[in-house]
Amino acid sequence: ASLLSFDIVHVYVFPWCKNCGLVFLAKVMLLSFSMASLFAAPGGGVIQGTASEAVLVVLLAARDRTLKKHGKKSLEKLVVYASDQTHSALQKACQVAGIFPENFRVVKADCSKNYAVAPEAVSEAISVDLSSGLIPFFICATVGTTSSSAVDPLPELGNIAQGHDMWFHIDAAYAGSACMCPEYRHHLDGVEKADSFNMNAHKWFLTNFDCSLLWVKDRSYLVEALSTNPEFLKNKASQANSVVDFKDWQIPLGRRFRSLKLWMVLRLYGVENLQSYIRKHIQLAEHFEQLVLSDSRFEVVTPRLFSLVCFRLLPPTSEYEGGRQLNYDLMDAANSSGKIFISHTVLAGKFVLRFAVGAPLTEEQHVDAAWKLLQDEATKLSGSA
Ligand code: PLP
Repeated sequence: ASLLSFDIVHVYVFPWCKNCGLVFLAKVMLLSFSMASLFAAPGGGVIQGTASEAVLVVLLAARDRTLKKHGKKSLEKLVVYASDQTHSALQKACQVAGIFPENFRVVKADCSKNYAVAPEAVSEAISVDLSSGLIPFFICATVGTTSSSAVDPLPELGNIAQGHDMWFHIDAAYAGSACMCPEYRHHLDGVEKADSFNMNAHKWFLTNFDCSLLWVKDRSYLVEALSTNPEFLKNKASQANSVVDFKDWQIPLGRRFRSLKLWMVLRLYGVENLQSYIRKHIQLAEHFEQLVLSDSRFEVVTPRLFSLVCFRLLPPTSEYEGGRQLNYDLMDAANSSGKIFISHTVLAGKFVLRFAVGAPLTEEQHVDAAWKLLQDEATKLSGSA
């Protein structure tokens, strides 16, 4: 009830704020830096279309903040750091933002830590670059990597970023939603050190595409990087600085009213139902994981943290390709059935299958049926080998 009344206060106090759902959500997730990221403080939140746009705008803000300090001619020296498990959206953002391709530092994730990046490796890369006269300015950490849902060590990476006056961005596009549940919130420990945080409500939060939530600790950097002030947009409210002009927080001028659908999700379901939705998916994934573990022909490749299970059919020892063809064929057979759809990745050279629970109507019977299909196809493949 207190969360709801908080909500209402925001509707009335900030009737102009098309991101009220975002403020509410920050409260629901109890982001450690949510207070700093509210409009009353220097921060704020803005709904972007996608995580790709979110990382692009914060990269632009960070770039301009650094260029202001070091001079515009320093662009060629700016270096971005991320792990080899970071979503390619960051690489694309670097391309758009004019970061020199050779200054996009991809640090190998630590396979002994479920493919989270080792902070020491990031520190080392930064030291090398500093000694070459380069300017490290941006670290991107991920909570729930795309391939294996690994969680990068936020407190350590945050300390590194703060120690070098770098921008620290957290991409929680997928797993951010899980942190709405207290038992998963520890994955956000260290978020208070972040300059920006992003999660996709359109991934695992029952909200239709597109709806990507971005919070920043200090909105002034975004606004400085992205604002324009043409005559035709001037009006009393903008001139009096009495409105939040989201055109200065994003690439396009016009905005869709995305907060409405997010607002409806929050209102229709409420915190408890949203939490049980997440918990159910994680339980179903856990159930699938147990099924895989019970069949010695398969292995679970990485420890499961959320609702994604990375697994594979073990190849015969003679297979030099490490099971690539075998697992590709299994995926192809399963997907061609039209009954389920699974995707793949490659981790440390292994071709890995990814079973993700995320649809609102999925029940245990569907997981069991999917597993039976995979087992049957595996049997056919081993029979034909
Ligand atoms: N970051 C992560 C961790 C993702 O998993 C994804 C998409 O799968 C993205 C970013 C890109 O998301 P979007 O399509 O919203 O740009």
